[in-house]
Amino acid sequence: MSALPRSSPAPAPAHAGGAPLGPPTAPLLPRPPVEGLIEAKPANQPESRWRDPRKNVEINIGKACNNRCVFCIDGLPKAEDRSYMPWPQMQAELDRWAAEGYRSVGFLGGEPTTYPWLTEAITHARSVGFSRVTIATNATKLRLRHFADKLLDAGLTRVTCSMHGHTPELEDKLTRVPGNFYKKLDALRYLAARRRADPSILPDGLSVNIVLNGWNHHHLPAMLRFFYEKVGVDDLRANFIRPEGYAEGDAELTPRYAEVVPNLTKAIILAERHFKKVFTFGGFPMCVLPAPLRRDHDLLSRTMGEYRDLSTACSIRSDGGDLTAPGRAFVEGSWVQHPKSSTVHFDEAESRARFNWQDRKRHDLKGHPEACGGCELNHVCEGVWKGYLDIWGVGGFTPVRLAETALGGR
Ligand code: SF4
Repeated sequence: MSALPRSSPAPAPAHAGGAPLGPPTAPLLPRPPVEGLIEAKPANQPESRWRDPRKNVEINIGKACNNRCVFCIDGLPKAEDRSYMPWPQMQAELDRWAAEGYRSVGFLGGEPTTYPWLTEAITHARSVGFSRVTIATNATKLRLRHFADKLLDAGLTRVTCSMHGHTPELEDKLTRVPGNFYKKLDALRYLAARRRADPSILPDGLSVNIVLNGWNHHHLPAMLRFFYEKVGVDDLRANFIRPEGYAEGDAELTPRYAEVVPNLTKAIILAERHFKKVFTFGGFPMCVLPAPLRRDHDLLSRTMGEYRDLSTACSIRSDGGDLTAPGRAFVEGSWVQHPKSSTVHFDEAESRARFNWQDRKRHDLKGHPEACGGCELNHVCEGVWKGYLDIWGVGGFTPVRLAETALGGR
């Protein structure tokens, strides 16, 4: 994989928010270059004109969270994983990635809105040249107007809200927090209203991220109507459940792809023809998608998230455990449990693991059933979550020929 491009000087602050807030006197940690720590493997994403070209880094602030989603991949995090990334380390991390040419940063957890220095982190990110600054949040805290306004004023440019149901019963059951539905609804409606009143608010979007699972996939078409028409959000993403953490081995929460694809197909058609809004999906191997969708390259590349997702590096707290991948892998002729990761770089001094997300998915977190060996879509398809294969086995996947798709030569 090629080295990350060398840095160019960070551009002048794009946000007029002024000097970094918080504890600016804190000493910065030494800043080793990122180059050599993570490198994206070549051609690890399908080419697409729909992709934002800015390189993105996602920084995990710690795994503490104020929700308890039934499918949370973190399950019950260890005490040290729940601790927050110290502010000086955050500053150093932002400086480091900015110096390497990254212009997009996302803060994730756990729950980033519980991070004590989130406002400072957003302000600092803007001041060192990140033009796209996002949070992936459950949004319950964003119902507090003063808090939401503070993040917007600091220079936040995108919010991705995790919400998985269109009724109080479904949302609260999935997130296991009574009253969550109305808190999130309040937050989303407020942010949507602020954007309508001032189009410069959240210029990179306000999106709802749905984890498709056994309890909600039948409602996907109804969820589109709810979020587009009743909430005022015009960008939805539906990701197939990743059965790790709480959902590991849970066949009720993890439906077979064949059960979900008819609802996914309805949603794609509805979004295209009726609502005319952005709808994307992720986590589905190419061979389970309807053949007409695979043949329609324009529609596929507009809706399949793997075509649109930014090239993303990740930085997470780690005790080194991430150096092994979950599940099994077929390595040199035999099955190996918890194979060595080929993508994670462990920074022992800072207790952080860094990796490219697309590589991590393809080489560590997803498996490749035997059918993949004869499949001509290997260059586009990342494979299947290993947790899915553990539940449902490696059958049911059929190699695809390029000639049967619109992908030949792409
Ligand atoms: S690479 Fe494997 S999982 Fe992906 S489409 Fe081909 S057969 Fe299916």
